[in-house]
Amino acid sequence: MRSREFIMKDMYSFDLDETNAIQTYNEVSLSYNALCHAIFGQEGKGWSRVEADTGNIGGSLSHEYQVHAEIGEDLLLHCNQCHHSANQEKMSVVTVEEREEGTKEKDKVHVWHGTNNEGNNVRIHISGVPKGRTVNPLKVQSMLQLIEEPKESARTKGHDDEGEAHGEAKAEGEGAEQDQSSTLVHGSTTCIGEDSSPTKIDVLQAMPNDTCPSCLSNTLTGTRGIEIGHVFYLGDKYSKCMEATYQNNNGRESLCDMGCYGIGISRIAAAAIERTQGHDENGIVWPEAIAPYRLCILPIGGGKTVANEYLNTKAMELCTMFEQKNIMDSDDIVVDDRSNKTSSPGIKLKEASLIGFPWIIVLGKDSLPSNKEDWKNEMKLEEYLLQGGSDGGGTVEIQERATGISVHVPFSEVVEYFQNHARCRTPVELLMDGFDTYEKKERD
Ligand SMILES: [Zn+2]
Repeated sequence: MRSREFIMKDMYSFDLDETNAIQTYNEVSLSYNALCHAIFGQEGKGWSRVEADTGNIGGSLSHEYQVHAEIGEDLLLHCNQCHHSANQEKMSVVTVEEREEGTKEKDKVHVWHGTNNEGNNVRIHISGVPKGRTVNPLKVQSMLQLIEEPKESARTKGHDDEGEAHGEAKAEGEGAEQDQSSTLVHGSTTCIGEDSSPTKIDVLQAMPNDTCPSCLSNTLTGTRGIEIGHVFYLGDKYSKCMEATYQNNNGRESLCDMGCYGIGISRIAAAAIERTQGHDENGIVWPEAIAPYRLCILPIGGGKTVANEYLNTKAMELCTMFEQKNIMDSDDIVVDDRSNKTSSPGIKLKEASLIGFPWIIVLGKDSLPSNKEDWKNEMKLEEYLLQGGSDGGGTVEIQERATGISVHVPFSEVVEYFQNHARCRTPVELLMDGFDTYEKKERD
């Protein structure tokens, strides 16, 4: 699902110091959390906030907001025990299962190269990558302090066959005299420098079922996600080059401490449809907070009689009642009173599901008396509908798109049903609920 326009809201923050900048970072995170909660529900069920790589933007801290969807371009890894979550490319690898000895894979040498921030070309040889595992280029990039993602070179001959670099990795500055050779064991546990004591580093891509690097007592589960928002703590990386300074209390020039934030408005709409709960075989399932219309009223039935006109009138009456009782504005509601040949009751119902209105109210055959003679008489129709369901009178059907739940209630109780229905909330109520949830979490 792609929107024809790309709208994104960006924000940049400039604080006096790191403490204030981190506070701003947390406040923006709280707003994004509340927004995601309002649109996609409980965190972890349809969306996640995960630790992310800062990539080319830089800085030392960043989180992504990801909506769970099978077609998502990112793999998110999550621990159900301690709730540690990170993008696959950011997740640490702590232990990797030993592979069987003597496999060909074991002797493969992976060679990666790139330019470091001093302008030197750097090459690294990584061996001992366990079978079925891959090297994470972003981890190599940050380890060697490269200015961009490294590229994998063709493997060096000799290493493969002879296994002479077995269990080793070499990093060397090309053109420079210094030969920073290093040794890798099993990809994830690395000794840098032959003389120095072993230092654990991590160059492998994390995978589902890996040990959680945070609690070490559980395994990670994987979910695919679509990124809809990203927050970065930047420090003084950009204020330094922009000379964004202020005069501090001592009269000295100080660098601002920065953050940057982005949320994809059109991406949210696309992700709302692509997400696992965002569609089914009948069409779109809009979340109520961002649905273009929250309710569709379908007056269907009565053929070309007075009864059909009567149902149209009752539909408009409901619309007014919803507005008067502050349940929905009239521009949240669509009344499908089309009466042409191509809009049979069946087609109207199908299209309402396809478009994905969160709520559908059907004024149909259950709202009309079974004796068709009565359809000609508006008094009889009114008497039947207002009598309500319990005494054999007419009912109105309310369908909830997301759950598929459908109930029949008397016409006079429709408004009450919506007032008392916990799942029917205005976008503002949903957002306030999101803020309440996260402010409470912060207090606890
Ligand atoms: Zn854990």
